[in-house]
Amino acid sequence: MASHIVGYPRMGPKRELKFALESFWDGKSSAEDLEKVATDLRSSIWKQMSEAGIKYIPSNTFSYYDQVLDTTAMLGAVPERYSWTGGEIGLSTYFSMARGNATVPAMEMTKWFDTNYHFIVPELGPSTKFTYASHKAVSEYKEAKALGIDTVPVLVGPVSYLLLSKPAKGVEKSFSLLSLLGSILPIYKEVVAELKAAGASWIQFDEPTLVKDLDAHELAAFSSAYAELESAFSGLNVLIETYFADIPAESYKTLTSLSGVTAYGFDLIRGAKTLDLIRSSFPSGKYLFAGVVDGRNIWADDLAASLSTLQSLEAVAGKDKLVVSTSCSLMHTAVDLVNETKLDDEIKSWLAFAAQKVVEVNALAKALAGQKDEAYFAANAAAQASRRSSPRVTNEEVQKAAAALKGSDHRRATTVSSRLDAQQKKLNLPVLPTTTIGSFPQTPELRRVRREYKAKKISEEEYISAIKEEISKVVKIQEELDIDVLVHGEPERNDMVEYFGEQLSGFAFTANGWVQSYGSRCVKPPIIYGDVSRPNPMTVFWSKTAQSMTARPMKGMLTGPVTILNWSFVRNDQPRFETCYQIALAIKKEVEDLEAAGIQVIQIDEAALREGLPLRKSEHAFYLDWAVHSFRITNCGVQDTTQIHTHMCYSNFNDIIHSIIDMDADVITIENSRSDEKLLSVFREGVKYGAGIGPGVYDIHSPRIPTTEEIADRVNKMLAVLDTNILWVNPDCGLKTRKYTEVKPALTNMVSATKLIRTQL
Ligand code: GLN
Ligand code: ZN
Repeated sequence: MASHIVGYPRMGPKRELKFALESFWDGKSSAEDLEKVATDLRSSIWKQMSEAGIKYIPSNTFSYYDQVLDTTAMLGAVPERYSWTGGEIGLSTYFSMARGNATVPAMEMTKWFDTNYHFIVPELGPSTKFTYASHKAVSEYKEAKALGIDTVPVLVGPVSYLLLSKPAKGVEKSFSLLSLLGSILPIYKEVVAELKAAGASWIQFDEPTLVKDLDAHELAAFSSAYAELESAFSGLNVLIETYFADIPAESYKTLTSLSGVTAYGFDLIRGAKTLDLIRSSFPSGKYLFAGVVDGRNIWADDLAASLSTLQSLEAVAGKDKLVVSTSCSLMHTAVDLVNETKLDDEIKSWLAFAAQKVVEVNALAKALAGQKDEAYFAANAAAQASRRSSPRVTNEEVQKAAAALKGSDHRRATTVSSRLDAQQKKLNLPVLPTTTIGSFPQTPELRRVRREYKAKKISEEEYISAIKEEISKVVKIQEELDIDVLVHGEPERNDMVEYFGEQLSGFAFTANGWVQSYGSRCVKPPIIYGDVSRPNPMTVFWSKTAQSMTARPMKGMLTGPVTILNWSFVRNDQPRFETCYQIALAIKKEVEDLEAAGIQVIQIDEAALREGLPLRKSEHAFYLDWAVHSFRITNCGVQDTTQIHTHMCYSNFNDIIHSIIDMDADVITIENSRSDEKLLSVFREGVKYGAGIGPGVYDIHSPRIPTTEEIADRVNKMLAVLDTNILWVNPDCGLKTRKYTEVKPALTNMVSATKLIRTQL
């Protein structure tokens, strides 16, 4: 009975790769230094898996930046603007594609399926020339082999690679990316041949797009690609790995009839329905890689349950053809629980990070082979039982309140236009009101104050007075700039989710539970382990303090339930929507306390609402329904005169515009400046939108200062499509990553542009 790991985190248990990369980029260390860190990380990962007893250990899942970019390098598909002249692609071309350089911008980055990982989007066209230009897969295989470890090299499959690409600039949008299959397959063949020559007996192709909604043409591309590769596969075992969702029945049929393929991998955590497909028919003589250990969460596996699933699958695939695996690459979970010093033993016993999951996979494989480690299984069962019955997990009052929400509507009683009228009577704002999204620059001094307060190096009084001083500075700046609706600047917050999680019950925080987001960037999601409640007000003190400093309206600033949910590791013992409803009830209390404290404008950020959209279209409606419902729950109880804002960090919401309208916020501010046309086209196409709307007028991700003319031009474009009385003027997102030297002139120009246009109305 065998064990397999789909892929492993690259960053290292203490983000060693991050620091090595950033030091190299800053010119503080050499390429050799970087390579040394990378080599050490790879060898320790391989050794760890080998010592744990894993039979199929992946290689080539390491990357300096991204596995899709690695594939672009392998295929030599470097966009022209990087002036690559051929030969093996080196670090400088590689990092220029990833991050841009002094003269050329980076390639686009986008989310990897529904994870928080971002990949570099290949730019392809009819004139792209493909050559075998990175031998990384082969050299990693050989590197492991030299350590005495025979690995399974992993490649991004050719069809998924093309389906994840976009037409290069100047290439028609209608260009068929799949028409390039014939050009890239010869390179795949070369790679396979070289791996075989180096001694590889297994190769894994990741083809996760197979779980998406594919049309017949796309499915046919899989059949023809693997038929073409079949000759190169002789003498090899080939595994096609899928993950992240159920695989549609049609795609399952295509997958299990691909030529030359001997093994299929499935995500049985997110793809519970795939189990039925497997049970109803599985090709004889093929290997089944059963992904029963969750690669996207931090919970210890319920080993008894997995073992029984696996036992039932033995009858389907045959005892010698069933391989225990992870549901997807472990790069989407935290690295090693051993480094957690902040978590208590009880919570720790409920968790498994990547290093622990490797051990779980192997323990399951051994149990199937009749060598069950009884003590290990017993300890796991005890931990599962303690999690189920722990009073820290269950709060009956919360459960009852959340259960009562299902099926009802929760909507403010009046229409948005009548509310806007009532609010305007009280707020008395000028036409085209100006505002910002929440945070102001976070200076090193501010970070120091927060750090020292956390470490109890400064007293509560000292902390409060430092933060008050910062708020008063931010208020003064906004008054001087003549902004209409103010913010307090969020100086007390490190992170928009962590700040709330730390004050809610049911949340735990790790010291090193980092997950790669893109390149060297990692996030450390909170862990939601129990029923969520709000013991005390979380933001009222600061909002009241800020409001007391100005006569202008001060926005209360909250993170919405869907965003808190989507940016956390969530419970797997209840549906996501139940956890979301619980968070919504906690935020609702905060909203009501803010209102009672005299705050008239409350912004509830839902930066990540779209991120949670399921991969399959058939599941969108259900998700959007409970997500939007959760948002409405937070503010359905406020008076008409209280203005509810929300903010979103993306503009591609054309497909979910009706859900956004259904959120029933009074004002929505959204990212827009990087894709003007896309956003406004929704309204041009006649979508009726009655609420206030502030499409960002400049990009806060860039240090560039927009001119007054440029902003005025943008606002005028918006006015061409949107009613004057609903338009707001604001930046794209929060200002916390910018410097005051950038923020002040940019906001000055934003206000001047607005005033100029007001005179022209
Ligand atoms: N209010 C938050 C801020 O301004 C919103 C951040 C976000 O949208 N990601 O920082
Ligand atoms: Zn934002």
